[in-house]
Amino acid sequence: MPRSNASYADLILPLAVPQYYTYEVPEELQAEISPGCRVIVMLGNRHYYTGIVRNLHNNPPIGYEVKPIISLLETIPLISEGQMEFWEWVANYYMCTVGEVYRAAVPSGLKLESETTVFLAGVHGEPRLSPAENELVDILEKSEGISIRQLAQLSGKKNVLPHLNSLIDKGIVSLEENLRELYKARTRDYVVLQASFQDEEMLKDMLDKLERRAPKQAELLMCLFQLTGHAEQPAEKPVPVSKPQLLATAGATTATLKSLVDKKVVSVQTVEISRLANVEQTSAKPWALNEKQTTAYLHILDDFKTRDVTLLHGITSSGKTEVYIHLIEHYLRQEKQVLYLLPEIALTTQIIQRLQRIFGNQVGVYHSRFSDAERVEVYHNLRGIIKKDSPSFKIILGVRSSVFLPFENLGLIIVDEEHENTYKQFDPAPRYNARDAAIVLAGMQGAKVLLGTATPSFESYLNALNGRYGLVELLERYREIELPAVRIIDIHEARRKKKMHTHFSQPLVDTIQETLNNKEQIILFQNRRGFSPYIECTDCGRIPVCKNCDVSLTYHKKRNQLRCHYCGFTIPNPSQCPDCGSHSLQTRGFGTEKIEDEIRILFPDARVSRLDLDTARSRKTYERIITDFEDCKVDILIGTQMISKGLDFDHVRIVGILNADNMLNFPDFRSFERSFQLISQVSGRAGRKGTQGTVFIQTSNPGHVVIQYFLKNDYKGFMKHQLHERQAFKYPPFYRLVKLTLRHKNFEILNRAARHLADELRKDLGERIVGPEFPLITRLFTFHQKCILVKLERDQQFSARRKIIQNAVDHVLTNSNFKGLHSIADVDPYS
Ligand code: ADP
Ligand code: ZN
Ligand code: ZN
Repeated sequence: MPRSNASYADLILPLAVPQYYTYEVPEELQAEISPGCRVIVMLGNRHYYTGIVRNLHNNPPIGYEVKPIISLLETIPLISEGQMEFWEWVANYYMCTVGEVYRAAVPSGLKLESETTVFLAGVHGEPRLSPAENELVDILEKSEGISIRQLAQLSGKKNVLPHLNSLIDKGIVSLEENLRELYKARTRDYVVLQASFQDEEMLKDMLDKLERRAPKQAELLMCLFQLTGHAEQPAEKPVPVSKPQLLATAGATTATLKSLVDKKVVSVQTVEISRLANVEQTSAKPWALNEKQTTAYLHILDDFKTRDVTLLHGITSSGKTEVYIHLIEHYLRQEKQVLYLLPEIALTTQIIQRLQRIFGNQVGVYHSRFSDAERVEVYHNLRGIIKKDSPSFKIILGVRSSVFLPFENLGLIIVDEEHENTYKQFDPAPRYNARDAAIVLAGMQGAKVLLGTATPSFESYLNALNGRYGLVELLERYREIELPAVRIIDIHEARRKKKMHTHFSQPLVDTIQETLNNKEQIILFQNRRGFSPYIECTDCGRIPVCKNCDVSLTYHKKRNQLRCHYCGFTIPNPSQCPDCGSHSLQTRGFGTEKIEDEIRILFPDARVSRLDLDTARSRKTYERIITDFEDCKVDILIGTQMISKGLDFDHVRIVGILNADNMLNFPDFRSFERSFQLISQVSGRAGRKGTQGTVFIQTSNPGHVVIQYFLKNDYKGFMKHQLHERQAFKYPPFYRLVKLTLRHKNFEILNRAARHLADELRKDLGERIVGPEFPLITRLFTFHQKCILVKLERDQQFSARRKIIQNAVDHVLTNSNFKGLHSIADVDPYS
């Protein structure tokens, strides 16, 4: 590549600033630097950042003193031109800065900055370290994790980032505390016989000596001898034996082994194994598609000849995943890459294994529950920097943020469960929708997109009806497994007749008992939103609220605490009311924890487990809960949305939706759509294999349009009904929304600023402006907040109108009357 010899570089820094920063390129770097390379720079006098070179040029910046680039981290660009163009699209469409996109797009280990905290992950074997690296390791050894800034101070070195980068590459330094464990787990110690003892005579002598003085060591040595195969055929090179295996086989301790190491009879060698899947090289054939699936498969490929996006509307268990697998094969044959997107909670071991069974270690997984180091490894892999035991990935199975991976040659993007609201990033910026961003990314790479779902989003369905997307249907379950029976239970009626004392109606209780007697399983679903338990004083009605936010504090039984789910503010659970002193405090609302309590009282012999954000913090605990349920070690699984996705259980007889009303009544224009989708998905867990399952829906509004259409199993009818309303009230998918949230600590200033902004906007956009209004939560993190909603036509002017909005916002933000004002723009918001 021709080098520019330019003296200046415009950099992307991971900050919410609208412009690029210009730095000077020192002469010695001019021949090496190119766009997409990472550099270390200083901003202000203390902060170091990893920046990305966007452009190189010879125009000195005017108005400020330009600082030099401190170091260049690579000469082959880490970020391609195409990636940067994609970042710019995201920033432009979602009204944020490219720096914010960079922050979301690149794993932390690749963008160190002064405030990043680092840890010593452990030094294995004898890695070759530079003097500077050794010095840093010494300091880190004495600390429990420190920020890079502190490390720089302690070492007296200004620029420690390049050395740290190198230490991270070697696996010696890591960014997250829990990673220290992970790192240890991912290296393996092998025990080998020292060269001098490979001579049989020498070994025999040694064994004789040991047998007398240290029989345990002799036994261990004998065991090693046998495991390496030396007993039969002394090889040139000893076969390494893993340390755990050796110790287990010999029944020996580490101390015994250490004595042998000290005597220089054996040595322990640490070998780094890939942190990514240790997958066997498997290559099972995919199942043959049945007739309906084959038709769908061919139809999709045919659609792709004329269209870039196709919607696969296929009910649960119709075999969508099988169709995806065949499509993946098709694109791999053409030497193309495939990105398979799943919502966070749907990315489970089950689906990973299903793909690995066919595609072996060509599958890379990109998951937010993985450590940063694992994410860095996937990133590197796609850039061609590959660890010795993992081949380059052809398929990435990943969540939202994997649209930012460095693909070079995409042929197909599959967006499974395309309707899922978790594809949309809520906070912080970039507030992007990964499904929509994937469609743009595919366009940039000449790839096709398949959107798959049992309950299409209204956006995608309308696009299909309009002919912008292809539409393929798969509306029969594979092998015609019966759909579950549905029973609606009117809890309003039951409560009125005083027949319901817990959150379980009598028919549901009876059926649970029956199911337990039959040794079959039960899933109980409780939507989390709006149902967190809180404390109320029964005498004066006081409900403890957060001191920073306008929300009631959530009661956590295990820790006996009250906690704000927004800002984390916590107080011990009071024993008496702070207002009236009454001791009569009651828990209200019901979360999954409360339901678990009730179930344990109702069915004391049942084995109960709970799956929600509290119980499934880490990947390990999440997987354990799922596996226990799969293995029938648990009878009743209680859970939130987390149980609704991508899980395939064999013995679930009934699914209970404990309260459909709070989903239906949630104040959001998408709440009916969302409720139908959730109810369908949760129901899909019932009776997938074997006998027909039953779904119980408890509601006080059995006549509700969502419930009625669900009973008729008529999603298409439901969509058509709802689309009329959306059109009438100017909502998506007919219009696009931009939601502006203004925040200020001072209520008066906030109100004036919001009114001012709305007035400004109305000058150009008139009736399209709704508000300002108070959102559901009027105060958050000590900031008052107010919202303005903009409803925009889906036309050519959308881009220009976003600019108008941005200008008006900037105008208000720079107005000295409104100092301290914050603004958030959310394009295509979800609530
Ligand atoms: P979906 O993704 O639409 O929910 P799946 O692909 O998971 O459906 O299929 C449901 C079940 O049926 C899975 O256990 C799958 O292995 C099985 N299945 C689907 N299609 C076939 C096929 N053609 N041959 C064998 N098994 C199939
Ligand atoms: Zn009180
Ligand atoms: Zn709070």
